[in-house]
Amino acid sequence: MPWVKQESCVGCKLCMSVCPVDGAIVMQGDKAYIVQEKCINCHKCIEKCPTDSIRPNSENPALRGMKRGGRGMGRGMGRGMGRRKNI
Ligand code: SF4
Ligand code: SF4
Repeated sequence: MPWVKQESCVGCKLCMSVCPVDGAIVMQGDKAYIVQEKCINCHKCIEKCPTDSIRPNSENPALRGMKRGGRGMGRGMGRGMGRRKNI
């Protein structure tokens, strides 16, 4: 789902006027906010926003960094393998 970059939103409400879902975009103070539970991800608001404040989910900083790096090395793998005494 898209999200609003609060720093650059100017509160023009154009996004609200094009959004087909009632209540998917609300104003919080003078900034727009997208209600994730209601948004149907049609991206109309993204196209309309004059300040490019609505960003696709892929750019969401809150979701970045949630991926955990490092999965733990398998233990014991390879031990005792590959070495054979030639008799
Ligand atoms: S993506 Fe569509 S449904 Fe979601 S907030 Fe934007 S205009 Fe509304
Ligand atoms: S269209 Fe863009 S600048 Fe205007 S209120 Fe919506 S998010 Fe903010």
